[in-house]
Amino acid sequence: MSKAGILFVISGPSGGGKGTVVKRFRELVPDIGFSVSATTRAPRDGEEDGKDYYFVSREEFLRMIECGEMLEYNEFCGNLYGTPKKEADRAREAGVDLILEIESNGAFNVKKNYPDAVLIMLIPESMKELEERLRSRASEPEDVIVRRLATAEHEVRLAPRYDYIVVNEKDKIDECAEELVGILTAEHKKSGRMNDAVNNFLNNR
Ligand code: 5GP
Repeated sequence: MSKAGILFVISGPSGGGKGTVVKRFRELVPDIGFSVSATTRAPRDGEEDGKDYYFVSREEFLRMIECGEMLEYNEFCGNLYGTPKKEADRAREAGVDLILEIESNGAFNVKKNYPDAVLIMLIPESMKELEERLRSRASEPEDVIVRRLATAEHEVRLAPRYDYIVVNEKDKIDECAEELVGILTAEHKKSGRMNDAVNNFLNNR
């Protein structure tokens, strides 16, 4: 089997610009894969089935759990979200790095199954900044915004359990995406992932 790809698990408050940064990161590293999650949430304007999410009914989601098709899943603000196993397995087997954009419970579950997964928490500068961003998105009713803010506070308090924390400053999308590239580059140079280079040196004389 080829060398396993690295799982890059990216979490952070929803509405904090995480999606925009991840999109830029993917442009900078076009070879990296992106795990498309399944969700019972309704699509937002512009979201496409099979690209942003697999939008499924609650019944279908529960069937996938029942059949062991989910690598991890969690309920978030009233909807179910999960990573289909096949997304991660396909990338790992092909030796391709894969981004999982998922919330913290899911992130810790992935780490349990794949201890070499790299957990990165992307946080906005402040709660104030996050609230402004959520409100300007104007895609959710007030009660959902209030829930998302409370969940954000809870998630950011878990940040010390992540491997890396990256601050996503307003209007600094490129800088933030480049910091993610830096992490990716460094992770590939970890001694445990450089056995081929060491063996190549020793075996060619
Ligand atoms: P949103 O509704 O804003 O797209 O996503 C809400 C939250 O669910 C975000 O924090 C997002 O990262 C998380 N999420 C998306 N897909 C998954 C998944 O497959 N598993 C888990 N555990 N969380 C997910």
